[in-house]
Amino acid sequence: MDNEGASRRQCSATTRKGARCRTRALPGRDHCGLHSPEAVEGRRLGGVNRSNAHRATIRLPPDLRAVADMLAEGIEQTRDGAMKPQVLTAMAAGTTALLRVVELALLAAQLDEMKRQIAEIQAQRTIEAGFYR
Ligand SMILES: [Zn+2]
Repeated sequence: MDNEGASRRQCSATTRKGARCRTRALPGRDHCGLHSPEAVEGRRLGGVNRSNAHRATIRLPPDLRAVADMLAEGIEQTRDGAMKPQVLTAMAAGTTALLRVVELALLAAQLDEMKRQIAEIQAQRTIEAGFYR
C-alpha cells in the first residue's frame, strides 16, 4: 500500500552533527520517537526544567558539557546504527574514569578553599584578641 510505505519513511530530523537522523519515522509521522515535536517539547519542558540529568548538566563546566554532548550523540548514533555499541561502551568507560579524576580535582579545590577560609578566620581572631586585650 502507498500509505504504508509513506508511514515508515526515514525521520526528517537532523542530528546534532548535522547528519540526517537514520531512524525510521513513527507510522504516519515525519519524525522518529526521539525527534517527534512532542518528544522535543517534552524534553524542553520536563527534561530541561525538572530532570536531575539536566540540573547536573547545567552545572557542568564547558569541558564536561562537551563530554556529555559527545555521549548523548554516541547514544543517538548507536541507536541509529551509525556507531558500534562497543565504541559507546568504551566511551562510557572513558567518561567514568575522566569523571573520577575531575571529582578528585574538585574535592581538592574545595579542600584548599576550606583551608584558606580557616586560615582567614584564625587570622581575624588573632587580630581581635590583640585588639580587646
Ligand atoms: Zn529521528
